Amino acid sequence: MEQLFSCSLCGGLTLLIRKTDKLDKGVWHEYAECQLCKGKVTFFYSDREIRRLLKLQESNPSLHRAKEIQQKMEVLKINIAKH
Ligand SMILES: [Zn+2]
Repeated sequence: MEQLFSCSLCGGLTLLIRKTDKLDKGVWHEYAECQLCKGKVTFFYSDREIRRLLKLQESNPSLHRAKEIQQKMEVLKINIAKH
């Protein structure tokens, strides 16, 4: 099914096209590409550790590690913004 999202860059409603860019040091940038402005709307950045935790959490939701994952994503995002 097609999904729409509202682009935070241009404010338009656009088709959700999910993409992943592989950056340095095992870091992945997961984002939606806006079809209107071609901007990248970030979902999150992940590194090996975050992806490992995401998989764990998916296979066993009772682990309740979503908050920890969220925090790691925030730290990673800040680190990337610095460079
Ligand atoms: Zn846009």
